[in-house]
Amino acid sequence: MLNQLTVSGLTARLSKREVSAREATQACLDQINRVDSQIHAFISCDASDALAQADVADQDMARGATHSARPLLGVPIAIKDVIAAKNQPLNCGSKILGNYISPYDSTVIEKLKSAGAIIFGRLNMDEFAMGSSTENSAFGVTKNPWDTSRIPGGSSGGSAAAVSADECLASFGSDTGGSIRQPAALCGCVGFKPTYGRVSRYGLVAFASSLDQIGPLTKDIRDAAILLEVVSGVDRRDSTSVPHPVPNYAASLVGDIKGLKLGLPKEYMVEGLDPEVSQAVRAAVAQLQKLGAEIVEISLPHTDFAVATYYIVATAEASANLARFDGIRYGLRISGADPIELYSKTRGAGFGSEVKRRIILGTYVLSSGYHDAYYLRAQKVRTLIRQDFLNAFERVDAIVTPTTPTAAFKIGAKSDDPLQMYLSDIFTISCNLAGICGVSLPCGFTSNPKLPIGLQLLGKPFGEETILKIAHAYEQSTPWHKERPALKA
Ligand code: GLN
Repeated sequence: MLNQLTVSGLTARLSKREVSAREATQACLDQINRVDSQIHAFISCDASDALAQADVADQDMARGATHSARPLLGVPIAIKDVIAAKNQPLNCGSKILGNYISPYDSTVIEKLKSAGAIIFGRLNMDEFAMGSSTENSAFGVTKNPWDTSRIPGGSSGGSAAAVSADECLASFGSDTGGSIRQPAALCGCVGFKPTYGRVSRYGLVAFASSLDQIGPLTKDIRDAAILLEVVSGVDRRDSTSVPHPVPNYAASLVGDIKGLKLGLPKEYMVEGLDPEVSQAVRAAVAQLQKLGAEIVEISLPHTDFAVATYYIVATAEASANLARFDGIRYGLRISGADPIELYSKTRGAGFGSEVKRRIILGTYVLSSGYHDAYYLRAQKVRTLIRQDFLNAFERVDAIVTPTTPTAAFKIGAKSDDPLQMYLSDIFTISCNLAGICGVSLPCGFTSNPKLPIGLQLLGKPFGEETILKIAHAYEQSTPWHKERPALKA
């Protein structure tokens, strides 16, 4: 079935005119009809708009448009509900945006459209990307396609579940502290977080602006490379995007990894790590060694402070970024006797409890008297965490770790315990604080029940090519990425 193909698999068949974009899009829509009532990866999906875009792609191909000029021509790609796509709903998994329809395209969507992609569906997420389980969505919980009594991870839970359930060929998510890599790991797909500044954030609704990056979730590493190349590059509308040339990422997937040095941080293989996860990651390390990589034990001494630092920096930035949702500018409005009453009624009704917790925490750490003790100190620790990585990268080409301490947990298991929930990002958060790149890819399964396990590779700033190459070599020498969940129709 066409919806089960990879992006590169579909474009090869589209190029030969063996199949049409309409057929591929219809296959995704059929799969959504078949399984999304169990998974709930999509908040909404406009089928007729998707098919209309597919028809345009088919006409372009009939007129001679090629995949060398437009690499995603006719490829259906679904989008996390925090990335603006013109004339599509934009809710960020929240009630506060009401019936808001985006009047513009984010830079990422603009680039995907000019590469020919069919942009369809709004994927479920934790409200404003705050969470690790997609249980914080105002639109209901997304289920893990491998076991629907479990969470898919978060905050890009819909993006990961949709890819692993073959409801789309690939998707996009955002990653502030692990939100692409963690759900990718728990759903058994690939998730790539680019270096801060590699991809424009214009049109990504801001959670924590100094940490947020958009990235792809895909069925294999080649697709991650293809999509990353399309969306990368400097953008005058995002002053933090960097004018580094964009390499041909798919071209970096050749050759072996002999002699590359991989760092294994001793602080990561610790207590609390599930034995099956630990075993799978150790086996992956052995496999990388077999492929010719040299394994070096490294130390990232400030690892213990990463979660605390993140929850100060991220909440501080969120409290400022979310001030714009005031009932005046857009979305939900609950009127009051005066503006203050209007703001508080609207925000009180529109935001869920996790978002409120973060706004309160962020406002507190920025308030006078506490700013220096919390926010400023967290910024200093952040610098130390980044320095840990830069020191390590003087000795190694990439770092290898588990993506998550455990496989997917049961729905509800951590929803009353924010601290336990925050700890599920312990291995992904440092990457965002340091601004480096990272990828998660499947490296095995737990035995009973059978749940995916993710391997994380972390790379130098703008070292995307190196981690893609290592990930690809590993993936191609193992069977994990070919496994699919057995979903009932
Ligand atoms: N789970 C983390 C949080 O709740 C990370 C979220 C993200 O990367 N958007 O903040």
